[in-house]
Amino acid sequence: MPSESDSAAGLVRNALTVDLEDYYHSAALGVPREEWDRLPSRVVGNVNRLLELLDEHRARATFFVTGWLADRYPLVVKRLAADGHEIACHGYWHTAVTEQTPEQFRTEVRLAGEAIAAATGSCLRGFRAPHYSIPDARHWAFQILAEEGFEYDSSLVTAQGQQGAASGAEGAAFVLPRGLVEFPPAAWRRPGLDAAGPSLRLLPSAWIKRAVRRLNGRGVPVVAAVRLWELDPDQPRLPCGLWARWRHYHGLADTERKLRELLDCGRFGRVDELPGVRGSQEGARSKGGSVAV
Ligand SMILES: [Zn+2]
Repeated sequence: MPSESDSAAGLVRNALTVDLEDYYHSAALGVPREEWDRLPSRVVGNVNRLLELLDEHRARATFFVTGWLADRYPLVVKRLAADGHEIACHGYWHTAVTEQTPEQFRTEVRLAGEAIAAATGSCLRGFRAPHYSIPDARHWAFQILAEEGFEYDSSLVTAQGQQGAASGAEGAAFVLPRGLVEFPPAAWRRPGLDAAGPSLRLLPSAWIKRAVRRLNGRGVPVVAAVRLWELDPDQPRLPCGLWARWRHYHGLADTERKLRELLDCGRFGRVDELPGVRGSQEGARSKGGSVAV
């Protein structure tokens, strides 16, 4: 017989987020942008497989799309939107925010918005910083995002020990200055360990599922995150050092199975359907949160 917390968990609407980027955009591999067009792309095949998987689970997701990919694959982005997924912004060149001036950041955000709008015809509500690179809730990037019309962000990884760990986030959704809502992506929090962003690929499935059930049992939504290339064990192997090899290639063969198991243990949908986002179905009733796994 299901417990009370199991019943509560079944009612919680979580979010699944996918960073729509190719393997050569990875920070660990450090491929210069001049070489991106020369490398074989895996985007179309990976998106097709992921859409089949999501359809099997009757799940929808938020895709954080780079403008660079939207310019090259507008039909892919258009199809994602047509299939009922949310399209959100992941910068244009996938440049870390910490490597940009405010002016450069605003220019990239606008470029990305134009590329994505050309593909979908709609404007963007959500943003995720490339490489999860907004360091804290007081960062100037949030003022620019608000001025550019964004309503929420999902960048503040709260992993302890990580460079630029988010201060003040504590894992739960909260309102940033200028009215943006922050939905921190789920991440593993252990002192002294660099989680390097959300870690579906790097953590045992049983831990992930236990954390989702625990949080959902308390009525707390989870914002799960995966990068598109993490679902592709057959991607080309690029030369790199040992640490980079582990960071980028470890666990690729198991990520799809883990994603399936994650989708089986809760309800997953788009970020803009979570409580707290203007116009979301549940937003009018309560302000929810997401807590780091
Ligand atoms: Zn990314």
